[in-house]
Amino acid sequence: MIVLKFGGTSVADAEAIERAGRIVASRLDRGPIVVVSALSGVTNALLALAEQAAKGHLIGALRAVEGLRERHLAQAELLLGAGTDECNETSAELSAMIDELAHLAEALATLGDLTPRSLDAIAAIGEKMSSLLCVAAFCKQGVPAVHVDSCDVMITDAAHTRAEPLPDEISAACRTALLPLVRKKKVPVMGGFIGSVKDTGVITTLGRGGGDYSASLFGAAVKADAIEIWTDVDGMLTADPRVVPDARLIAQIAFEEASELASFGAKVLHPNTIAPAVRLGIPVYVLNSRRPEGAGTKITFDAPKRAVSAIAGKNNVSLVKVGSPRMLLTEGFLRALFEIFERNRTSVDVVATSEVSVSLTVDDASRLEAILSDLRELGDVSVERARGIVAVVGGAISEGGETMARALAALGGVHVHMLSLSATGINLTMVVDDDQVKPAMQRLHAAFFGGANA
Ligand code: ADP
Ligand code: ASP
Ligand code: MG
Repeated sequence: MIVLKFGGTSVADAEAIERAGRIVASRLDRGPIVVVSALSGVTNALLALAEQAAKGHLIGALRAVEGLRERHLAQAELLLGAGTDECNETSAELSAMIDELAHLAEALATLGDLTPRSLDAIAAIGEKMSSLLCVAAFCKQGVPAVHVDSCDVMITDAAHTRAEPLPDEISAACRTALLPLVRKKKVPVMGGFIGSVKDTGVITTLGRGGGDYSASLFGAAVKADAIEIWTDVDGMLTADPRVVPDARLIAQIAFEEASELASFGAKVLHPNTIAPAVRLGIPVYVLNSRRPEGAGTKITFDAPKRAVSAIAGKNNVSLVKVGSPRMLLTEGFLRALFEIFERNRTSVDVVATSEVSVSLTVDDASRLEAILSDLRELGDVSVERARGIVAVVGGAISEGGETMARALAALGGVHVHMLSLSATGINLTMVVDDDQVKPAMQRLHAAFFGGANA
């Protein structure tokens, strides 16, 4: 069995969906299980219209709803043929989902309040629609596809908008819902990113970009032979090609390094993707759905160790500093400090300590005010919001010191607010001004991989 996940751009329209169908067809002998994202841009559109509705701008929100209806129905016609039974049936199902979306928007406009739970109910509609559309299209292409409602298999806790999957429940559900289908040579097709709360069945989502995470969890649940993440670039590259146009393909990379890259901005993989797969040693491939013949990137346990594999970067990071001469980092201080972040379900990315202060960065600032107010009980607190992170990732960064020297030399003149080398020595991270992330990535890339900026 293998899990194939198609991201938003790989199912963006009829043409892309047909390409995805051909990829699935080429793997029928390997027992594929398919996970799809919403059509590209749809999740953003859904979240925006939810916000608009909750602010009372119902007309605008409903216009956006109708735009989504048109887009999906137009793709259904292109894929299934206008007027055919398949098209009528699929269009009726899609339309019913859009009607439900319109009702939700109306309810939000009346309530004037947008809860994480209602955001999830709305965001989930993108994947519900794309999975329906893909099933119908794949069947038309001769793939024996069967729709499986991800809410029946992706069982999570109730932390809406970034729900935590419950692996034991997911495994049990996958055994009953997916395995019999695969045994009968059918191809289960599910929406990624969405799930439901254990026992209550209320809809949840796994956080933005969560389709990758779904694929990896399903892969682990069925003990797949491989997980293929199909996207719009040739694989994991030495940097984001939107920032560094001459970035190169990485043929093979270690799980650990891929996971660091994902956490520090390489959007090509959701940061949590690797964990479930790594536990079982399942290889993860990142492949280009527009060029399926490419070899892509293979993410495995035993990849070649290079000084530097790639450069990543992330914007909109907050740098929090907690200091007090009083505390002198007494024992228990760090525990108290991190408990505050844990209580607020906010993860810390980079940490540096001195005898009298701790500096750390957070990516998700939604709970920052509450965190800061708790931190003030521990010492003097300051926060710098317009920061970014650049990371140099590679298996042997710390060996010899030459790599670190080269990285710092490349950043000459850039204000580095904080620097950290992970204990495993695979990630050198620097906090810089937000507007310096892009140039810093370009300079680091040029220093380690040559090219236009060398
Ligand atoms: P999908 O819709 O398939 O999930 P995403 O937009 O989430 O696709 O991720 C693919 C994008 O990730 C690419 O278009 C690319 O711009 C970006 N990206 C960032 N860093 C990297 C990297 N190191 N290698 C490849 N792609 C990267
Ligand atoms: N559709 C979701 C998003 O845009 C999940 C995903 O694409 O992985 O965040
Ligand atoms: Mg993605």
